[in-house]
Amino acid sequence: MGVMTRTPPPSPLDPAIAARLKRSTDGLVPAIAQQYDTGEVLMLGWMNDEALHRTLTTGRCTYWSRSRQEYWVKGDTSGHVQHVKSVALDCDADTVLVKVDQVGAACHTGARTCFDADVIKSAVSGEDAASAEDAGSDVPPLGQ
Ligand SMILES: [Zn+2]
Repeated sequence: MGVMTRTPPPSPLDPAIAARLKRSTDGLVPAIAQQYDTGEVLMLGWMNDEALHRTLTTGRCTYWSRSRQEYWVKGDTSGHVQHVKSVALDCDADTVLVKVDQVGAACHTGARTCFDADVIKSAVSGEDAASAEDAGSDVPPLGQ
């Protein structure tokens, strides 16, 4: 495989996948990056169809930057590359989970994950755990 060019030829996402994706009004789906072997939740980015296509086909995590309005290949500037191991849609097809092998820090701050530095609750108490479980089981099933 050669080096990615700045303007790759148009390469539409597999129509079978595109048909299932539920995008936000701006055409994006949130993409969670998880370290494939340790299970660490690394970061969250956004993908449009083309970013997902590139992620599926290049082996490198590619996101859409909402602030810069451009594609962003993780690690191109930082060296903190994400090698794609697997890609999954969630049950509603509105979130992407990318299992990756993260080189170095996932967060632009230099932290291993985006969630290391700002822990607002460090453990779940028994009572909270019980109520969280109840809330989960109270969700009614969708019509069949
Ligand atoms: Zn971060």
